[in-house]
Amino acid sequence: MADSSRRFATLALWAAHPEGSGEKDVALPIHHSVNFAYEDVDEWLDVALGKRPGHIYSRNTNPTVRPLELTMRALDDAEECISFSTGMAAISNTLFTLLVPGDRVVAIKDTYGGTNKIFLEFMPRNNVEVALCDTLDFEEIEAEIRKGCKVLYLETPTNPTLKVVDIERLARVAHEHRGIVIVDNTFATPVNQRPLELGADLVVYSATKYLNGHSDAMGGILSGAKDLVDQVFHYREINGAALHANSAYMILRGLKTLELRIQRHNESAQRIAEFLHDHEGVEAVYYPGLPDHPNHDIARRQMDGFGGMLSFALPGDFDQVKKLLPRLHYSHNAASLGSVATLVGPPRVTSHVELSMEERRAMGIPESLIRYSVGIENVEDLLADLDSGLSGL
Ligand SMILES: *Cc1c(COP(=O)(O)O)cnc(C)c1O
Repeated sequence: MADSSRRFATLALWAAHPEGSGEKDVALPIHHSVNFAYEDVDEWLDVALGKRPGHIYSRNTNPTVRPLELTMRALDDAEECISFSTGMAAISNTLFTLLVPGDRVVAIKDTYGGTNKIFLEFMPRNNVEVALCDTLDFEEIEAEIRKGCKVLYLETPTNPTLKVVDIERLARVAHEHRGIVIVDNTFATPVNQRPLELGADLVVYSATKYLNGHSDAMGGILSGAKDLVDQVFHYREINGAALHANSAYMILRGLKTLELRIQRHNESAQRIAEFLHDHEGVEAVYYPGLPDHPNHDIARRQMDGFGGMLSFALPGDFDQVKKLLPRLHYSHNAASLGSVATLVGPPRVTSHVELSMEERRAMGIPESLIRYSVGIENVEDLLADLDSGLSGL
């Protein structure tokens, strides 16, 4: 499956390095400056008018932030890329740029919690019609697209039950109806899945997760067709959700090991999913790399690796979760995902805390579900940790 011609590790190290002679930084510096001074007013004017490259004010562009954008542009093989202060800033700026009153957006129900709030709470306020579809009912999604679709918004694999959405199939139908296709690729990263190659127009990320990878910086990324990204950039300049240079540096540093980390996350998650699948103390495992996962065939087609995220349900109720988590030594009980360290969180406490038990059940989320973001620890240690934790229940 893996496509070595993509050269991610090479691009991550070299895509942002400026050409030219003389002394060069091997590790790019952090430009803290908010503003950039010009001795020559004509030069300043040319930069202000976009006639020559340069930076003026860090809400618009910054010499540490731009190399990160150029690197992600290369990894996504996109025409353009811009960054944001958080993943939600990337998603909200993109949706609020492209959707104006009177428009219609079609999306899946299983989007990230914050994204779902935009669709349910903020879009209707703006007079944007929202059609939220059953994530795996592709025929329903196609039928909704045919009723009118300025934007088709997808996310795959989804949180927390790792559903896999057929990007190519739905993008084709959306384009027949002149829809703009956006995919949240946070769980997969470009190493495992490239939505632009599958027909998407735009791809968004929470860079807070795998792209940074170390739980120490927040950020968001938007890559894709230049005319669309430029529109969102114009909104972001005014809206102000710019990425800070420090965070850009941290994410750029994280990207240098993205391919290595994702390979490890993929291998370990597959081992752990298979182990849990065969464990008598586990009721169900959700991982697209398992042959009995309902969307395994789509995942094999559109992904180069199945990722580091999995979830599993224990027999019994939430009390079992409360018993298991303190017994695990190599996982932080914490929100978020995609870190080098293993993170566990029950959706009952994290993403789906505000819902009632009935609502969670309707979404197919068992009370005893545990989301497990597999870190890069030695996998034997993680397996032994899970085994001893489960055997004591
Ligand atoms: C975390 C996450 C977001 C939001 O990103 P932030 O950086 O927390 O704002 C969006 N989509 C997905 C899939 C996420 O996991």
